[in-house]
Amino acid sequence: MQILDGKIVSQAVKDDLIQKLALHHAEGKKTPHLAAVLVGTNGASETYVASKVKNCAETGFKSTLIRLDENVTEEVLLENIERLNADADVDGILVQLPLPKHFNEEKIINSIHPDKDVDGFHPMNIGKMVQGLPTYIPATPYGILLMLEHYKIETSGKHAVVIGRSNIVGRPMSILLSRNAYPGNCTVTVCHSRTKNLKEICLQADIIVAALGIAEFLKADMVKEGAVVIDVGITRVPDASKKSGFALKGDVDFADVAPKCSYITPVPGGVGLMTIAALLMNTFHASAQR
Ligand code: NAD
Repeated sequence: MQILDGKIVSQAVKDDLIQKLALHHAEGKKTPHLAAVLVGTNGASETYVASKVKNCAETGFKSTLIRLDENVTEEVLLENIERLNADADVDGILVQLPLPKHFNEEKIINSIHPDKDVDGFHPMNIGKMVQGLPTYIPATPYGILLMLEHYKIETSGKHAVVIGRSNIVGRPMSILLSRNAYPGNCTVTVCHSRTKNLKEICLQADIIVAALGIAEFLKADMVKEGAVVIDVGITRVPDASKKSGFALKGDVDFADVAPKCSYITPVPGGVGLMTIAALLMNTFHASAQR
């Protein structure tokens, strides 16, 4: 069993971006600039945004963090996005999800200019991804592709089971794994909350991507010997022994499942780090295109 190490692969992606940026600057091109909008004070969202800002700095990118009060109106958020859309120095915009309940997330995502949609959530970019056209690929599935590529994991003809069908992880992941490219060319089964016989389906999988958001859901008796297991889940589970009061758990029961796998991602230290690396890649491409 080999660990798919998000620390190593994300650092390799960042090192590559640092080199590309140096060439970019030598040609007189601008520094990539990511603008992140955070509404409210959700603990997990605060952590994710802080990490995105930190990684921008480490890679030599510029970042701007716009914080808005939990109770701002949708109109105020839309005005901020409009301003960022019009700002020639800003290459990429992300609005940290989930938003407080009174926002229409779809309307907010659709208000980001597709050329600056580095999260790859705008319907226009999703449409391009489905057709295999160049676009921004949603950061988490993109990060997983980069991970599979780094470790040269064979995907062609494999049966991939994706657990979860969300617009940001499960659905794009299933589409990308079935495309005619590497990593891809898998036969993909998408499972969700209404799937029957999930265990039997998982037992047929060469590759499992678990993205359902239930801590330690996937057990060893659901996994075929030698499978590749990618754990997307991040759930905060109360843990009095930790200073923070919680531990981060993936959707895979790592200790149980790992001995059966050929490759497996840990949580933390796996897909989460790759998501940020992929976001930086998208931001660099956004900047390079302008
Ligand atoms: P979501 O809640 O939008 O979607 C969950 C999906 O899982 C749904 O499609 C649902 O049908 C399916 N599901 C729920 N219960 C199920 C069950 N018992 N059996 C089979 N399918 C079931 O979640 P999401 O936004 O896709 O995120 C999933 C997990 O990934 C969460 O833990 C989230 O925190 C994490 N996440 C991690 C990263 C990262 O960078 N590592 C990025 C995004 C999300």
